[in-house]
Amino acid sequence: MGFRTEPSASSVALSLRAVALGYVVLPLFALAAGLNDGRVRSWPALWAGAGLLVTLGGTHLLDRRRVRRARYREFVPSRAFLQVTTAIWAMALAGVAFGLHGGTFLLLPVLPFVVLSVLGNRTMTRRGMLVLVAALGTETAVQLPAFSAFWATLLFSATALVLAGVVDEVVRASRRAVERNRHLAALATDTSALQDWPQDLTELGPRLARAMDVERFAVLTRPARRDPLERVFSWPEPEWPSWERLGTMPQQSLERMRPLSTPALSVAPARTGTAAVVVVTPGTSAHGVRVEPTLLSTVAALLVAALSRNRLISGLVEAAETDQLTGVANRRRLFEALTHEVARARRSRRPLTVAMIDLDHFKQYNDTFGHSAGDDLLQRFALRTTSRVRAQDLVARYGGEEFCLVLPETDGDGAMSLVDGLRAGGAGTDRLGRRVTFSAGLATWDGNESVEELVYRADASLYRAKAAGRDRVAAAPAAPAAS
Ligand code: GH3
Ligand code: MG
Ligand code: MG
Repeated sequence: MGFRTEPSASSVALSLRAVALGYVVLPLFALAAGLNDGRVRSWPALWAGAGLLVTLGGTHLLDRRRVRRARYREFVPSRAFLQVTTAIWAMALAGVAFGLHGGTFLLLPVLPFVVLSVLGNRTMTRRGMLVLVAALGTETAVQLPAFSAFWATLLFSATALVLAGVVDEVVRASRRAVERNRHLAALATDTSALQDWPQDLTELGPRLARAMDVERFAVLTRPARRDPLERVFSWPEPEWPSWERLGTMPQQSLERMRPLSTPALSVAPARTGTAAVVVVTPGTSAHGVRVEPTLLSTVAALLVAALSRNRLISGLVEAAETDQLTGVANRRRLFEALTHEVARARRSRRPLTVAMIDLDHFKQYNDTFGHSAGDDLLQRFALRTTSRVRAQDLVARYGGEEFCLVLPETDGDGAMSLVDGLRAGGAGTDRLGRRVTFSAGLATWDGNESVEELVYRADASLYRAKAAGRDRVAAAPAAPAAS
């Protein structure tokens, strides 16, 4: 049990300490027993005691040199041994003070264990167990006069080594768990602040690896419920593991909603709503132990929460900037785009033209064909206009039956030929096959004015087009100061 990791410097040092502990306990009991009835009952114990100084001194020197050489951080808490020894000391002396003998004496070490188990946490219980085993072993050895120092030492060394290994493994595992929890907590904060999936996620690569205690991993997801899983990203090798190696494991784990593992790979799924994430890691962690499925599931859950939050937010942003009826940009998005484009035009010194479009006699159209027919026409007009402008142009519904076109890198003439082309096609046709017309007003940014001023001028042009008889496009006169 517990020897899975290769023996390290700390295991060796720890074992030496544990042997030393044996030596501490052994003569103590012998001494206590001797004091109790006036004769030394266990010479082997005293012989062993001689070894105590040597071992303790050796361990101490070894530790000190190591501390100096390579900041010896891995050392197992010597405090535990101190507590153990103190407890036994106290019990032994108490036993002597109350004049206890043999069998009663044997019960004494049980007491600290019981106290530690009742009052203490799990670590303390483990330490208490050490007290018990060491003390009972010692007591047995001391009570057998035939025990030679050699066998007593051997017995103690072996016991101590086994205990040392167990304690070492427990301490390492708990230290790893503490580290992992720290990383997980940091990861939870990071993923909750994730703005851009998956771009931001890529930056979290090393963090994710540390939290899962693995050297490489991959994150898979699917765009929609029925879609196959896709690789979001792999760290640090972009193609790890190959799809051949993955096989159907990720898909299966997602369908069954539980972690799966082979010696080579571990996968864990997580799902909320339509978002799904599968985390893939090697079968063994960076420390050579099996990757914990619960840990992977936790990471997958954090990631899927981040993914669905991202989808939700981008959906909300999209909805907040889209006109519900026509699907084109709404006023909010229009003014954002205008601000952006004016700033760009200022930097690039390229022209920028805005067109305000208003359907002619639309009230009458509604009155004649009904409001929903009017809605249909608005939808068709928005769709057609969007399909006729360039990708960088923006079509927005300004309100009611008014639309606004933002035409970057387009001067007054360019805008005139584009919008007049649209006008010639009409806004659509009514049920009687007659062309529905619109009027438009243009304004080209004068190099100075604000967004509001630009829109105001386009609106003024539109007003002139209406006043001049509708079904026409009017351009704002070029500002005298414009260059
Ligand atoms: P003009 O040529 O002067 O622009 O005349 P008009 O009738 O188009 O202008 P007016 O501003 O008087 O009327 C606009 C009409 O547009 C009023 C309203 O019934 C209609 N309208 C506004 N929003 C919507 C909409 O969302 N759906 C429908 N079907 N009609 C709308
Ligand atoms: Mg109007
Ligand atoms: Mg109108």
